[in-house]
Order: sequence, then structure tokens, then C-alpha cells
Amino acid sequence: MPERDRTRRARRSTRATLESPLSATWQPAIRERAVLVGVGPGIADEDLDELAALADSAGADTVSRVVQSRSEPDPATFIGRGKLEELHHEVHARDAGSVILDQELTPGQLRSLEERLGVKVIDRTALILDIFALHARSREGKAQVELAQLNYLLPRLRGWGEAMSRLGGGIGTRGPGETKMEVDRQHIRRRIAKLRRDIKTLAKTRDLKRSQRQDSGIPQIAIAGYTNAGKSTLMRQLTGADVVVADQLFATLDPTTRRIELPGRRKAVVSDTVGFVGKLPHDLVEAFRSTLEEVGMADLILHVADATSHALDEQVDAVRRVLGEIGAGDLPEVLVLNKIDRLAGSHRARLARRFPGSVPVSALTGEGVEGLLEVLGERIPRPPVEITLLVPFGREDVTARLYREAEVLSTELDTTGTIVKARVGLRLLSAVRGFVTDGAASG
Ligand code: GDP
Ligand code: MG
Repeated sequence: MPERDRTRRARRSTRATLESPLSATWQPAIRERAVLVGVGPGIADEDLDELAALADSAGADTVSRVVQSRSEPDPATFIGRGKLEELHHEVHARDAGSVILDQELTPGQLRSLEERLGVKVIDRTALILDIFALHARSREGKAQVELAQLNYLLPRLRGWGEAMSRLGGGIGTRGPGETKMEVDRQHIRRRIAKLRRDIKTLAKTRDLKRSQRQDSGIPQIAIAGYTNAGKSTLMRQLTGADVVVADQLFATLDPTTRRIELPGRRKAVVSDTVGFVGKLPHDLVEAFRSTLEEVGMADLILHVADATSHALDEQVDAVRRVLGEIGAGDLPEVLVLNKIDRLAGSHRARLARRFPGSVPVSALTGEGVEGLLEVLGERIPRPPVEITLLVPFGREDVTARLYREAEVLSTELDTTGTIVKARVGLRLLSAVRGFVTDGAASG
């Protein structure tokens, strides 16, 4: 293909070095209001559940769903003429800012829908890429996502690109960094070539990086699983508003990461990781994997599965297989079977036999969440070193840091300061070594 030739030439001719990675983490401002649209034979509202969960991850609330049962999408406008009128009405009656479609559209379909609806139109691929952009943390992850975004953007530049700039930013338009979607083909081709080279280099350092894993002191829990399994709902249930407020530091660093308190005053950091999606477009596989790789940095994987799904076994297997492939297969896993509020008792008992060691919960009602916290408390590793410190008065910053990053077992006031017993990680130990009065040598 001529496209590929040109990229190859660009790769040869452009000599660029690895420059500083794309930075800047997007912060959700206001949630957008979106109308979801699905087309397919015999399609029903429930078939858009996954799309609604994807929209939620991207920061949009679903205000309405429009489905049209037909075997093939309309070549010009994706949905048929009559439905388009209904959709137009729905968009404006519900004051929606965007329309999200459950398939990938042709550039022409996207353009004419935007023209007819007067709001931003996002297809399934762009939505998924947007979520990847929010979750990509490593340089390789960011490069992979940007590469996939540019490959998606390139054939859509005329029209869609212009429409996007006309209709503003928000969901469906985010990059992993501050790089604006540049409406210049030549520039994009050069950028694609550079990203490909960077990715090759970054892949080589990946394994090294993992072996140098940061010891943050607080156990890290990664929530993994399919989109729509209830990961975000469970995360909200596990944390609770008061914890979030008390934890501004983490809240501002990363909107998908929260601290939780486990039984026995143990602490952990929970991250809602990028969800698996059904029918992942082939071009997005690499971006998905490198975004998911952050999971490998965790101390424990909280694997959330939708117990009501007809594809439960396949989904559990697929998650485990991919985690194995990205090098996270050896991490301890707690399998959560979610949405049990929708299951009869006999069904629950069958599932318990089929998945020994799994924890049944309802993230929606809170049922089983206490039990889950108990299990997590038992399964996550404790900070390795138990120490006693004397923190002199005036050094409350040290005490605060211990509370933040260690497992504080007890505190007691003394004449010159506070005696703190705590379990700490190695990095924190070296930072507070000067205050240690006992235990630093023990394991
Ligand atoms: P995620 O994509 O894994 O983050 O899933 P979400 O947390 O966004 O949940 C997807 C959908 O499932 C939402 O409509 C939730 O309200 C619903 N849901 C989540 N947990 C439960 C549950 O325990 N029971 C029921 N009935 N619905 C749930
Ligand atoms: Mg979610």
C-alpha cells in the first residue's frame, strides 16, 4: 500500500532521538451527557450496556439509548433516515453533547452524522482509544496509544478532524499527552514513524523496569476485568467518599487511584485499570496490552467478573490468559464474582463450586464487600519491616508520612516526642532511619 511506503520512507529519512515522554494526566472536569446508538439485527437496549460502561470510563453519562434493528448500517449515515430524526430529537431534548456509536464508522458516516446532528459524534474505536489514553502510564503505553490514535485519525482528517476542532474537546478527543491532534498529514506520518521507533526501544527496557519495581510501602491492588463487570462500582464501594476526601494527594495524582483501609488498620492503594472489551478492534490490541501492563506493577490483582454474564467462564479465562502474557500471571489474584444480587441462591452455590476461593459480592448493594475486605487483608503482603521510632516534637511531617505510607501499629506520647510502632517498606525505612530506636535490623 502507498500509505505504508510513505511511512517507511519517513522512518528512514527522519533522524530523531528519544525525547521526553508525553505527560499530563487528564482530569475529569464536568461529565458529558451522551446518547448511545446501536445498529444490528434484533438489537435491544441491553446490548448497549458495555458501551454505557465504556462511556462511563471516559467520563460521559448515558442520558438516552437509541437502537435500530437492521442487518446492515446505512452506508451514508449509519442509521436510517427515520431513526436519524428520532436521534436528532433525543439529542436536543436531553441536551446531550455527544452521540456515541457502538461500532466503527466510516469517515463519511462520522462526518455526515455530525453535520446532521450538530453535536460531536464518536464511534466505538475512538471511545476505546480515549479510555486507553486515560489509563496509559508508562512511556511505552503512551506511545502505543498515541500510535493507535494517529493511525485511526489519519484517514479521517478531512472532515472529521475539522469537525472535531469545530465542536471542541472532551471525550473522544483526548491524547495521552499534551500533543494536539495536529491536522497535518505529513506531520502525523513523521510522528507515527517516530513512535514506532520509540516503541521498539522502550520495549527493550520494559523488563528491566519491572525488576526495579518501586517499593512504595503501601500494597498496590489492581482491579482488572471486563468492561461492565462492575470495576468502577466496586471501587466506589470499597473506598467511600470520606476516604477520598481524606486522600486528596492520591485523588489529584490520578483519578483512577484511591486508598482504602483494610481490617486491622492495614492500608492499600486500589487502581481501577483499563477494562477488557469485547470485539476489540485488531489495531487496538497492542495499545490495550501496554496500557494494561501497569497491572504487572501491583502486589495483588482483584479480578472482577460479571457473574451474570453468559460468557463468564470465557471472560475469566481470557483475563487470566492476557495477564499471564503480560507477565502478571504470578501475582496473587482474588476473583470477585460480582452482581450476585441478580442471581438465585442455587445459582450462587453452583458458581462457588465452579470457582473455588472466589468471593461473591454485589458492588451495587454492598453485599459481600465486608467479606472481600477481609480476604484482601489476608492476601496482600504486609510491609516487610517492623520498627519502633521516636519522632521528636516538631517533626510531625515524619508522623504524617508514616501514616500515609506505612502501617502504623501504635503511637504513644513520650516526653520528647511520639513513639511510633509501624511496619514499613524498605524505601521508607531508609528515609526515616534516623528516628528508629528498635527493630530496623529485623525482617
Ligand atoms: P466497569 O466497566 O467494570 O467499571 O463497570 P461499572 O462499574 O461501570 O458497572 C457497569 C454496570 O453494571 C453499571 O450499570 C452498574 O450499575 C452495574 N453494576 C455494577 N455492579 C453491579 C452489581 O453488583 N449488581 C448489579 N445488578 N449491577 C451492577
Ligand atoms: Mg469502569
